[in-house]
Amino acid sequence: MKDNRSYNNNKRISNVNNLKSHNKNLNKVNNGVFVFTRSLSVGELAKQLNILPSDIIKYFFMNKKMVTINQMLDDESIGEVCLNFGYDFKKEKVVKAENFEEVEIKDKKEDLVERPPVVTVMGHVDHGKTTLIDAIRNSNVVATEAGGISQAIGAYQKEVKGKKITFIDTPGHEAFTAMRSRGASVTDIVILVVAADDGVMPQTVEAIDHAKAAGAPIVVAINKIDKEGANIERVKNDLMNYEIIPEEYGGKNIFCEISAKKNIGIENLMENILLLSEVLELKANPKRYAMGTVLEAKLDKGEGPKATLLIQNGTLNNSDYVVVGTSYGHIRRMVNEHQKVMKTATPSTPVSVTGLNEVPNAGDHFMAFPTEKEAREIAAKRHLQREEQERSGTAARSLDDLYKQAQEGEITTLNLLIRADSTGSVEALKSSIMKISIKGVKVNIIRATAGAITDSDIALASASNAIIYGFNVRPTANIKAKAEEEKVEIRLHRIIYALIEEIEGALKGLTKPELKEVTMGQMEVRNLFKANKLTIAGCYVTEGHIKARSKIHLIRDGIIIYDGELASLKRFKDDASDVKSGFECGATILGYNDIHEGDVIEAFEMKEEAK
Ligand code: GDP
Repeated sequence: MKDNRSYNNNKRISNVNNLKSHNKNLNKVNNGVFVFTRSLSVGELAKQLNILPSDIIKYFFMNKKMVTINQMLDDESIGEVCLNFGYDFKKEKVVKAENFEEVEIKDKKEDLVERPPVVTVMGHVDHGKTTLIDAIRNSNVVATEAGGISQAIGAYQKEVKGKKITFIDTPGHEAFTAMRSRGASVTDIVILVVAADDGVMPQTVEAIDHAKAAGAPIVVAINKIDKEGANIERVKNDLMNYEIIPEEYGGKNIFCEISAKKNIGIENLMENILLLSEVLELKANPKRYAMGTVLEAKLDKGEGPKATLLIQNGTLNNSDYVVVGTSYGHIRRMVNEHQKVMKTATPSTPVSVTGLNEVPNAGDHFMAFPTEKEAREIAAKRHLQREEQERSGTAARSLDDLYKQAQEGEITTLNLLIRADSTGSVEALKSSIMKISIKGVKVNIIRATAGAITDSDIALASASNAIIYGFNVRPTANIKAKAEEEKVEIRLHRIIYALIEEIEGALKGLTKPELKEVTMGQMEVRNLFKANKLTIAGCYVTEGHIKARSKIHLIRDGIIIYDGELASLKRFKDDASDVKSGFECGATILGYNDIHEGDVIEAFEMKEEAK
């Protein structure tokens, strides 16, 4: 193993340099490509392309378009000019230092070294995930480790044949999903535990969906092979329905047969993980400042905010300045899972650190900086940014967002979850949706099943920025609330072509779901009372029903003379929430008193409708 201590402060590359070089290449010609970030005036563009403004003006003139030197050009016109003058073009985003997770890290090939794979264990409840994690943790405990008491810090490393593997401690897909919904992906490989005596179960399938959505390869661990009733072939056959196919049948998934309880096949499983990670060519550059993700964080009574960081690139030193989520600090103490104090931590190493000024969230990104000033300033900006985001609500993908993004030409993939009343409709929907073909957009069905919409659908949709389409199913109030909380959009349909049209429409950026007025009821004004300066209308509900605080039209002789809303609705002396047809009530209109006898008050609601 390399001596990591050689990557000291002076020798490490600051990650902000990548940002500077990224932004430095903007508004410039690189290898014949003009990279720009915003609309430019004719004068600006000419200067940057090293041509005369009059050349551009002349070009447009020849194409029957008059422009002046100060005229702003849109992206399309900029592209046109570039091509005409022999350049290609590309629009890029300016990345700010505080959005360090967006910085594209480019490492030199010679700086990249192999890093351990990061592995998460998933599977159905009681199939043996925890037992497996424990078995791995306790397998071939080496002498050096034996001294330290192992503590749960969210992850641990194991050495197999001189190579390390990092295991995430919390099994199951809740933690996995929580990470992904924060935009963090830490897992390189998923171990899917399936009990040989129980076979493929609902959470097995969910785990497969999650792993696939995250693009993480799956290694199947068929567990409990020691048990009577273990049926390994059945597990293999069942998994084929989910495109998890063993190599022996021409597929690309590794299958290992194990008993987590009896410690059978664990070594072999780990060796297979190493084999796979070699194929994946997992690499990182230890010569830069560290960056990665928070696996766990808490407030320790004695030590203050404490976080487990997974280093994904670079090296973390025990006295580095770090920004973690929106908090920052100077690392005070850094230990591994055996409570051993660490001076440096290299890629894929999980470490627990103290010294932060706040407790970050699991899934937050972190980055180390050469100076305290940088770390402090960047953390402050991130703080502001998060507050703003919280105020404006998180930007999960809704059909409305989609429409906007489609118009701006930004959207590339639409993730969908489908729930339908029968497997027949699931198949019909899948095949119709797969036929949707719109240039530049990929429709990706991440789960399609029969049955009611579940909590787990919401979690998966939230983590994958997906929209849930329900076909002949209705979400319960609980599910609706959960979806609202997670900002997941659920669209319900009863007719396949309407559903398809809606998706197509949104993708083309043509049809935005429109709000349509739906009449709820009407009442006639039969008499009027004055109280203070208010006019109270004594009404009789002639049609439908009238709800308190409804939106209303005031209609006189068939003409709407006022639009507003009800301020009060009473039956006798009491407030009423809803008055049905055939009943009398008293009503006032918010901020409006010119009501006449014989007027009609019509209550309506605005409902969303896709064209
Ligand atoms: P989890 O819910 O997936 O984390 O499952 P657990 O690890 O808690 O295991 C559930 C039960 O299965 C426990 O009673 C374990 O002792 C048992 N178990 C786990 N692995 C094996 C195994 O390989 N063989 C047998 N016979 N039992 C096992």
